[in-house]
Amino acid sequence: MATATKIRKRITIHASKCIGCRACELACAAFHAKPRYSSINPTRSRIQIIKDPLKDIYLPVYAGEYTAAECTSRNKYILDGKEYSNCDFCRASCPSRDLFKEPDSGLALKCDMCEDTPPLKVPKCVEWCPNGTLIYEEIEEDVQEQQLQLGEVEIGVESMIAKHGLQMVLETVAKLGKR
Ligand code: SF4
Ligand code: SF4
Repeated sequence: MATATKIRKRITIHASKCIGCRACELACAAFHAKPRYSSINPTRSRIQIIKDPLKDIYLPVYAGEYTAAECTSRNKYILDGKEYSNCDFCRASCPSRDLFKEPDSGLALKCDMCEDTPPLKVPKCVEWCPNGTLIYEEIEEDVQEQQLQLGEVEIGVESMIAKHGLQMVLETVAKLGKR
């Protein structure tokens, strides 16, 4: 199978540097408002800060894949004397919590690395983080052409299929096509 060189975007999180200011959440929410920058609702952010100020816990977590079922077990992590649950590290939009769900529609949110045309130099959360917690890099990788990453439209469709089912999405698209 043919291979192609792909630029893989990566954000490294230096969690110990996070001061919990939530500038990243606001920047992400504003960038993804429709129209852009028309509102700032942090519940729409694709990055969320898990925080427990009394225990000095500030953990940036990026929205990942949607999952229809919650985990059947719970683990806990103790790092540098701080206690975290496995939900704290989890990137999924899942039925057991409100995180990473669009507040009006309930659709799953997923970090799209601020895809835009023309492309941004760095994602908004990285640009607005004041403490060097989030470090952005672009890495060249050889990948099979089939594996090229999904774009923003595909991510949205994938999310709708996960929530409403393929049949419902296909019927809706067909209906819209006839208008
Ligand atoms: S990379 Fe962009 S989409 Fe992802 S969390 Fe940061 S601001 Fe939001
Ligand atoms: S902007 Fe940076 S320091 Fe502030 S909460 Fe987000 S990751 Fe933490």
